Amino acid sequence: MTKGWKQWVKKQIGIRIGCERDCKFCFAKILGSEKGYTSIDTWKNPKDRKTKDKIPSNSIVGFPSTHDITIHNYSDCLETILEILAKGNQLIIVTKPDYHIIELLISDLKDYKDKIEFRITIGSYDNEVLKKYEPNASDFEERLLVLKTLFMAGFETSVAIEPFTSRDVRGLIERIYHYVTREIWVGIMNHFSKIIKIYPEAEELRPLYTKETVCEIYGELRDAFQHPYYIGKVNLRYKDTFENIIKKSLGKGKCKECNVECDKLVLKNCCICREYGFYLECYDCPSKEGRIGSLEQLLGVVAEVDDQEIELILTNTTPEEIATYSNLLKEKKGDPEEECVEPTLGYEDDLGV
Ligand code: SF4
Repeated sequence: MTKGWKQWVKKQIGIRIGCERDCKFCFAKILGSEKGYTSIDTWKNPKDRKTKDKIPSNSIVGFPSTHDITIHNYSDCLETILEILAKGNQLIIVTKPDYHIIELLISDLKDYKDKIEFRITIGSYDNEVLKKYEPNASDFEERLLVLKTLFMAGFETSVAIEPFTSRDVRGLIERIYHYVTREIWVGIMNHFSKIIKIYPEAEELRPLYTKETVCEIYGELRDAFQHPYYIGKVNLRYKDTFENIIKKSLGKGKCKECNVECDKLVLKNCCICREYGFYLECYDCPSKEGRIGSLEQLLGVVAEVDDQEIELILTNTTPEEIATYSNLLKEKKGDPEEECVEPTLGYEDDLGV
């Protein structure tokens, strides 16, 4: 059972049942049609909800749950948003946005910046894929522009890469993270077996959600975004369904790279053989060489850490001692983070934003 919105908010509110976007993976559509509130065919023609969700007070609320904010429902949505805010709630607006709607929201909600976070859903930067699975939603460039505009306007922003619908999740994050002030959530497609019964063509996405691919993606993201350059810039979070796959896959084995036994292997990715970073969970790792490798990369990327110093570090096995040592070394050799340059290509030029 997936936690869905519950991982984000205490209460989700919607005022319509049905959504013009008509995404093929829409869980609200599938659940609503199973319960008889709507049908797969009529979902794209939203109707008013018979029972209104009760708006709580002083809570964390997500809006809108069973539809998106579009030009057809804008004034009703705004009214509900203001009602939610008037009751002292923090609000997360989750949307696959149209730019003109965001312009309106920015103007209408400018006095509530400290109460609102915009969570933009982006599953891929490939417009063909977006068009196929989210047929009436904005393309990647428009969503990126929305993100940038909200960021420039001083709103808190986050992104839901859920479900990711292309393999290159890392590339997607590299394209968006500049404009994200809070978390980037990564999640798989839930209820996949139900979806392919309705849309058999979605079978082509199955390889994306296997244990192997999810673990590979996790390893790639961990490698890439624990680089010192990204500390404080990319705050990655995983939805429970993604995380459960990773947890089930952690196991004991030999690292293919360094040939050392480790009980925290995530498939082929060994916690001591990563390109960047220092992992506290490696303390009990039996590989001295592996730990030296990790420490060398943490600290120096600080050049020429001397052998004796490394020996010294290796006798210190608590996080506090390592942190103290790391600080001392920074003072002595300069902070590696300050010298870090972005390790990936900048995409803004390509996108003209
Ligand atoms: S935008 Fe959201 S509510 Fe609308 S169809 Fe897509 S997933 Fe469903």
